[in-house]
Amino acid sequence: MEPRAKMTHVTVRKAADGRAVLSQCLKSQLYYCPFCQPSIFKPRDYASVMTHIESHRLKAVLHREFTIFICHLECRTAKHFHCPYCPKTYVNRRDFTKHIPQSDQQFEVVRLLMAYILELMDQYPGSGSST
Ligand SMILES: [Zn+2]
Ligand SMILES: [Zn+2]
Ligand SMILES: [Zn+2]
Repeated sequence: MEPRAKMTHVTVRKAADGRAVLSQCLKSQLYYCPFCQPSIFKPRDYASVMTHIESHRLKAVLHREFTIFICHLECRTAKHFHCPYCPKTYVNRRDFTKHIPQSDQQFEVVRLLMAYILELMDQYPGSGSST
């Protein structure tokens, strides 16, 4: 297991994450798509899965450093996108691309607020331990 913070969904990737690592079925030696349920995309040989992932990439939504692939996992019955900033998912691509900048801004506000609170806490270091 990787000790990575579980901030974003598997379908939300950054360029820095590098290429998606495919999991392989030990019995059949076939590979899975990390963004689809095996019942939707059956395990195949490496080349076929890479071609399939390329089709995910062509339909992916790009935002800042994020590449958001279409998710076809068990979270919802329909294909959908995961927001990198909040737990919301969208089936409609246009709604999703409208939502991201709004969510991005809210995320920024929360981040600034957190920084402000931390700064305040720094100014009152004894507030945690009374008596
Ligand atoms: Zn897939
Ligand atoms: Zn999902
Ligand atoms: Zn959002």
